Amino acid sequence: MLLLIYCIFMHPSLPRLLKLQQMDQKIFESRQFLVRIPREIEQVQKQLKAEQELVSRYKKELLQIELSIKELEEEIAGIKSKINQYKLQQLSTRKNEEYQALSHQIVSAESKVSALEDKILELLDKKEMLSKTFKEQESKFHRFSDEINGKIENLLIQKKMLEKNLDQLLEERKNYASGFDQQLLQNYQRIAAAKPGSAIVPVTEESCGGCHMKMTKQTYLKVKSSEELVFCEYCGRILFFPQ
Ligand SMILES: [Zn+2]
Repeated sequence: MLLLIYCIFMHPSLPRLLKLQQMDQKIFESRQFLVRIPREIEQVQKQLKAEQELVSRYKKELLQIELSIKELEEEIAGIKSKINQYKLQQLSTRKNEEYQALSHQIVSAESKVSALEDKILELLDKKEMLSKTFKEQESKFHRFSDEINGKIENLLIQKKMLEKNLDQLLEERKNYASGFDQQLLQNYQRIAAAKPGSAIVPVTEESCGGCHMKMTKQTYLKVKSSEELVFCEYCGRILFFPQ
């Protein structure tokens, strides 16, 4: 409707150029969307990877704790076997001094065992807490993974649709542009390449609707008369008078 109103007050080439600009704008937007999709996919994949890394980190920490517990248990078993040896030696000795020395070694070894057992208890507590965190993170990751994979699937469907739509738009644009005067088309395309979506702009309050510079009275009157195509003397855009 807006386009029809403009038609009455503008240069005869302008309605067609404006329609071409609309088509180009749609093509530009489709391309922008298409560029955004792979970036969006990359971003969500990064988030998913971060969650997965957290699961792996907790798992690694858990394995490290289990390994430490095993090492402590082996150390305790070694000390306990020594305690048994000391006790056997005590049974066979007749020297009081040696008996006493062995008693000291037994007490010292038993206190070491006790300290190591405390360490194991601490590690078991830590393991319990970490197991809980690990399981929570693991289920969070699985939920997130389903969500992200669904999102990626949708984005890929969207991409396919956009690509199909873009092909159609390009075909329509090609057919539409084929009916244009070549010089006019080249001029428009040159401006549109530098100023996508705003190669043709309305005059607003005697200023260019693109660069907003105030135009000379002469330019303003030329645009208003609609007798020729007028270009902004500052930015080169094609001007039209919206009444
Ligand atoms: Zn301008």
